[in-house]
Amino acid sequence: MSNPHVLIIPLPAQGHIIPLMELAQNLANNGIKITFVNPEFSHHSMVNALAGKTTLADKIHLVSVPDGLESIEDLQVQGRFFEIVLKVMPEKVEEMIKRINKSEDDKITCVIADHLLGWVQEFATKMKIKRVAFLSPAAATVALEFSIPKLINEGVINSDGTPITNKTCQFEPTMPIMNTSEFNWSSVGNMTDPKFLFNTLLQCSKSVKSADWAICNSSYDLEPGAFALAPEIVPMGPLLASNRLGESVGLFLQEDLTWLEWLDQQPQCSVLYVAFGSTTVFKHTQFQEIAMGLELTNRSFLWVVRPGITDQGIEAYPEGFLNRVGTRGKIVSWALQQKVLSHPSIACFVSHCGWNSTIESVSNGVPIICCPYYADQFINQSYINDIWKIGVKLDKDTQGIITREEIKNKVDQLLDDDMFKDRALRLKEVMMSSISEGGRSHKNFQNFSTWIKGLSSIV
Ligand code: UDP
Repeated sequence: MSNPHVLIIPLPAQGHIIPLMELAQNLANNGIKITFVNPEFSHHSMVNALAGKTTLADKIHLVSVPDGLESIEDLQVQGRFFEIVLKVMPEKVEEMIKRINKSEDDKITCVIADHLLGWVQEFATKMKIKRVAFLSPAAATVALEFSIPKLINEGVINSDGTPITNKTCQFEPTMPIMNTSEFNWSSVGNMTDPKFLFNTLLQCSKSVKSADWAICNSSYDLEPGAFALAPEIVPMGPLLASNRLGESVGLFLQEDLTWLEWLDQQPQCSVLYVAFGSTTVFKHTQFQEIAMGLELTNRSFLWVVRPGITDQGIEAYPEGFLNRVGTRGKIVSWALQQKVLSHPSIACFVSHCGWNSTIESVSNGVPIICCPYYADQFINQSYINDIWKIGVKLDKDTQGIITREEIKNKVDQLLDDDMFKDRALRLKEVMMSSISEGGRSHKNFQNFSTWIKGLSSIV
């Protein structure tokens, strides 16, 4: 019998790595040995961004497997990301486990893998290793994926995932209102082919159901309907660095450190925080309209303009924009978002509604202006807007553009009505109580950790 040794395998994308890294740290703090494996490209990004910042190395063993990329630009080729994740990684990870398991007292006893890595099921079964599926989106998104056979039977979608009619549906009163054309496999931007994603999700949801645990970064009180519909999913969230009084790790980009000093000088609850996650790409005209909208609000803003955020590669602002907004606007290439959102100067978050961004905003009682881009972001947007009522949605005009006037009007609507902030603060209390001593997420994590510690290696 050896000590528990957990191998964690994320989907190598920013929004998937951050919460898994948080889980890894919580487990490591509970005395569990963790190896965290990435393909080379994401491993190097993480290690570079971490440089000299943390003592992570003595807690978590960060390792990489070859990804076959000649240069990082190759990742932009459509389909390449999924080729690495679904075709290259399985063999390399299996080889790595075999190598580790040659040692007598260090064998992998359990693997925690992103739920989109359905292939883990095969080798875990073969090697008799316990398997945990980590669900990085909302429980509602996974419940939707579990419901695919039912949606086909009921004539809502075709067997390839395309909607039969364009309509809205809602599984439970506390669940998001979804448009069939915005199911997470239908609205994929230029990420991949919708039918390929649909089939992958279908396979993965079978693999999740047969895992020893299916855990997610959410809480019962946030999504009661989704957990009733998919009771096999166990919430352990919110998984946040602030819960362990630390900083988030697993970022791909170095943080621009100038934001804090600027934010400290702004009045309480006055600043719009504007950020669209790690993958949103705007058309150049939309990017410019956002800039003009921020200018039109006449309010202070902190805007994350990530390299590559527009389809033209360079982030060209409207003529004279930077001079006109002056010090009222602070633009950075990357910030420590969890820390930004906890700052007292933040009034609201203009967001693409990625699940991490949503959870991070809720956990700080910050209302949200929703600007969903693709995938599960429409589901999250409905939670914010329709169910929790802690935000408003930016609507597109007939040309498909969110105009500067729309941005100004929605910012005013949200900030002129205290009810949004009041509801956001109430939701924060409810969600944060789940991770305090005796809360349901807290108990789930303790049970999970005890289960891992009780595993003996039978490899
Ligand atoms: N993030 C950050 N700094 C930024 C922008 C984003 O640290 O300037 C983090 C954010 O806190 C979140 C993650 O990147 O944890 C983005 O995840 P999300 O699910 O919101 O969106 P995705 O990038 O997957 O679309």
